[in-house]
Amino acid sequence: MPLKPPGTPPDMAYFDLVFDIPLQGNEVFTYRADAKGEAGVGKRAMAPLGKRERLGYIIGEKAELPPQMGEENLKPLRRVVDGEVIFDQDDINLAQWVAGYYLCGVGEALSAMIPSGRRTGAYVSFQDDPEGIAENIPELSEEQIRALGEISAEGGENSPSLFYLYGITGSGKTEVFLRAAEALLKKNKSVIYLVPEISLTHQTAEAISRRFGPLAATIHSGMSPSVRLTEWVRIRRGAVRIVVGPRSAVFAPVRDLGLIIIDEEHDGSYKSGNTPRYHARQVAMRRGSLSGARLVMGSATPSAEAWKLMGEGLIRRLDLTRRLSGGATPEIVPVSLEHAEGCLTEALKGEIHKTALLGRQTILFLNRRGFGYFYHCRNCGYELTCRNCSVSLTYHKSRGRAICHYCGYSVIPPRACPHCGSLEAGFTGFGTEMIEEEVRRTFPELRIRRIDADTTEKKGSLRETLELFKSGGIDLLLGTQMVAKGLNFPGVRLVGVVLADTGLHLPDFRAAERTFSLIVQVAGRAGRYFPDGKVIVQTLRPRDPAITRACALDIPGFYETELAQREALKFPPYTRLIRFTARSREAARADKAMERMAAIARPLLPPEADFLGPAECPIGIIAGNHRRHILLRCPSMGALHSAARAILGRYKKGRDTQVYMEVDVDPVNLL
Ligand code: ADP
Ligand code: ZN
Ligand code: ZN
Repeated sequence: MPLKPPGTPPDMAYFDLVFDIPLQGNEVFTYRADAKGEAGVGKRAMAPLGKRERLGYIIGEKAELPPQMGEENLKPLRRVVDGEVIFDQDDINLAQWVAGYYLCGVGEALSAMIPSGRRTGAYVSFQDDPEGIAENIPELSEEQIRALGEISAEGGENSPSLFYLYGITGSGKTEVFLRAAEALLKKNKSVIYLVPEISLTHQTAEAISRRFGPLAATIHSGMSPSVRLTEWVRIRRGAVRIVVGPRSAVFAPVRDLGLIIIDEEHDGSYKSGNTPRYHARQVAMRRGSLSGARLVMGSATPSAEAWKLMGEGLIRRLDLTRRLSGGATPEIVPVSLEHAEGCLTEALKGEIHKTALLGRQTILFLNRRGFGYFYHCRNCGYELTCRNCSVSLTYHKSRGRAICHYCGYSVIPPRACPHCGSLEAGFTGFGTEMIEEEVRRTFPELRIRRIDADTTEKKGSLRETLELFKSGGIDLLLGTQMVAKGLNFPGVRLVGVVLADTGLHLPDFRAAERTFSLIVQVAGRAGRYFPDGKVIVQTLRPRDPAITRACALDIPGFYETELAQREALKFPPYTRLIRFTARSREAARADKAMERMAAIARPLLPPEADFLGPAECPIGIIAGNHRRHILLRCPSMGALHSAARAILGRYKKGRDTQVYMEVDVDPVNLL
């Protein structure tokens, strides 16, 4: 070996790797360096783990082994995958924080940062006008100017760094976000702009790429893993300065981060549904405080958490109270469905008719796909449920089958009750497919389209429908969530919520909040450009406060009651939660695991904490897995975290074979 000049760093002979797998106990493994390719921190490498070879992340390196570690036990790396460093030390630190906060492995956290594209979603991009609409950038209103001023103010150490644009739908939040971004870009800082998962919000993405051109990059769920990686590296190199995307974009490796924007902060898609179950808002707060970047959120219906923080002055609230493009807040009328026949009330039908006569457009919203909602025998009470899940099957008439929305299992619906043979059995309740049929029957002269997960499977069909609607080629657009969010169509006069209470009965303390927010958001699609917007909210519970307050657009009133209730019932945001869910093919194994965990938890919880359960999850079986859970609850996250770590540590020392344990910190979904 040639002699090296003194002071040269020694060659790294050993590397520490983490893997994207749930592990018990130790999760960092050390390997010898002799591999093809050049190893280094922040690269990925194939390495033997147990009997297999796996992809791991190199998070550490050393020239010498600590004395207690024997060289002879170490295996060599097989192959270094990356020529270029993928994760820098800041990314690794952030992953370590995610792992600590969300109680998962560092490898699991790193792999969430460059999502593998396990889930693919549709991405809708609106065609830019061929003439290239020289974008007319509006003059800001006084409220917008004031908000922008606060967000962009030069400030000292103690100036606020968390802001909330609280503005009614259509009040020009996007324009403030764009200007704030522009100001930061001018200072050579970078910006991350988060939008909800749902495809339609890519209207925003388009606006950003129109305004910032090649400085902007969009990350979305329709991208292949390799394209995402290419984008990641391009961002890392500093060519991209503003990144738009759903929750995982919060990890985008931009240089000199100056601002993180979270549009529609209340949206459920900011919380990950698989490990690590991180919330983009939480990660954004962390990244912001690490890098000195500001965080600006926005919504017409903030989450209860954000509302409370604004009340306490921990987030600076900036109000936008007026619609700016000629619209006004629509009139919102609740209509009882209690004694109605069919699913459209006279009031709603009358307004659809009137809207058509005015040459304007209607959106009908129902948060339920399919035709019939659940199969029920009036003679013996039998219900047709999924073979693999404890949920009802939904009748999809166009396919002639009853389908499980959780696992996809389907059957041809029985004519007579399979249990007692009675003919008094069939589907009740309704979904979008049935509404479509009723609307077509009632209004044969209207051009009608339905959009939901069933009609938009074909690539490009969603986009085509939306373009058509935008250009006036459709009179009535009907659908699920997809029509509820972010749409900005001038021609819409009427919004009809077919059944507002679909989510109200769910056993989840956020049911009222979600219902409230959904109604306000859907209602916000009406009257954006003309002052005669109208919203009809059909409901079986016309006196429920979530519904009456939404219809009155009494947003502060809703939060006041809701927060008082949460406080009384000791639920977030007054407490923090950690949920453990055991999943197993055998109910008895899941039960046993949860009982053992409860026994471990009891003595380890601090006095101010408690736990709910163990209990069967509201959806007791999904895809053949029996589900049981425990909710740990405590006013402070610090105390809860330490307890949960201790509990998990003890739990993992025992053996519950064929049980998978999910950990969810700050759970959003309790079903
Ligand atoms: P929000 O995000 O608050 O729901 P948007 O950003 O979608 O609202 O704005 C609604 C409409 O108002 C958009 O068409 C936008 O171009 C327009 N707009 C925004 N700011 C102004 C302004 N200062 N003057 C006129 N129109 C504006
Ligand atoms: Zn029966
Ligand atoms: Zn199922």
